[in-house]
Amino acid sequence: MTGRDTMYRIAVLSYHTSPLAPLGGRDTGGLNVYVRELTRELAERGHHVDVFTRRTDPDAPEIVAIAAPSARLVHIAAGPPRELEKEALPTHLDAFEAGVAAFAERERLAYDVLHSHYWLSGVVGERLKVRWGVPHIAMFHTLGEVKSRARISEREPAPRIEAERAIVRNADRIVACGRDERQLLMRLYGADPGRISVVPCGVNLDLFQPIAKAEARHQLGLRDDDRILLFVGRIEPLKGVDILLGAAAQLEAEPDCFVLVIGGDSSAREGEMAHLRDLASQLGIAERVSFLGAVDHERLPLFYSAADVCVVPSFYESFGLVALEAMACGTPVVASRVGGLIGTVRDGETGYLIPWRCPEPFAERLDLLLGNEELRRAFGQSAREAVQRYRWGNVAEAVLAIYRELIEGAPAKGRAAFRN
Ligand code: UDP
Repeated sequence: MTGRDTMYRIAVLSYHTSPLAPLGGRDTGGLNVYVRELTRELAERGHHVDVFTRRTDPDAPEIVAIAAPSARLVHIAAGPPRELEKEALPTHLDAFEAGVAAFAERERLAYDVLHSHYWLSGVVGERLKVRWGVPHIAMFHTLGEVKSRARISEREPAPRIEAERAIVRNADRIVACGRDERQLLMRLYGADPGRISVVPCGVNLDLFQPIAKAEARHQLGLRDDDRILLFVGRIEPLKGVDILLGAAAQLEAEPDCFVLVIGGDSSAREGEMAHLRDLASQLGIAERVSFLGAVDHERLPLFYSAADVCVVPSFYESFGLVALEAMACGTPVVASRVGGLIGTVRDGETGYLIPWRCPEPFAERLDLLLGNEELRRAFGQSAREAVQRYRWGNVAEAVLAIYRELIEGAPAKGRAAFRN
């Protein structure tokens, strides 16, 4: 059997959130999609994948199939079996590590490689790496130092940043989802560039396909001649929904345009959702903004296709799956010039990148696009073409090349789809 054909047994750590959790909640979004899609692709290629997550439901079975027969989700008891506040999560890392180790021992499983997601899992990955003597690949998804610098109101706790520094020092490989994250890892964390691999995230091109706008709007009960701006994501200050609302209130070309906000709990009376509702009222656009709450991932193509523009006004976005999904549906994207968005949205070709975090420049670009149907169509078409290389199969091949390199000492191949 050649090295390329070897099937690996992969332990994936997703301590703080499950790849099967409903999306669009407070803490469920891109990371969950990433773990789920990558796991499926690896299983499709015959690899055995066990994804370990903290048990949050006392009645859930210990093992749930993600992709039969070789990819499983394993619930590990660590702390109370319910959702916990983020601050309480570090307390139960020891129990989680012990639970994963006990599972492997009981099942007599020897993993070839560990792949951790987010710093909490990275901490456990570092410990299990020592225990099992296998390579550890860490992916942060967000970095505490970057979050703290992105918006004045954000302050990440020092223990998180210290833990991230230790992971950066010791992990066999860090997967960064773009060049920007690679630079930040080097500049803010002193990472060794030789141990960083850049692999972008992906998009499910079978699910995210253009649907004729009239058809999508008909299915959603939206009017044909309205102008519609769409936001999709977790509802938290870093996502910059306030910038979108500010921009919508300033539009000149289409003062009557509507804003759909997808994500979060639409009925929430507290926190960021309440703040955004108040803001829409203060701006005098409350009747033109709909907070729809979380929407099933599988239904999102309808919304992306129905929208004229998808807006991603984030203060910080390590990758930004939503932009790719919108582009895959042939919808132009107006996004902040941050993180992975710099690599995915092509300014003046598939949308616009805005270097400032304030409503005015967003309004200016949105006016331009909303007032020009031909431009929207051209951008949308380029967008669908531009995302082709981001299929999850390409992501899996690039990640497998890293596994292969670390397990077998073979030089990493197979990243061609992402070399540009
Ligand atoms: N999402 C969803 N339903 C929602 C809100 C979000 O399915 O109601 C999904 C969205 O399609 C995307 C992910 O959550 O795949 C968000 O990922 P992104 O990288 O844009 O943001 P992150 O959550 O990583 O900050």
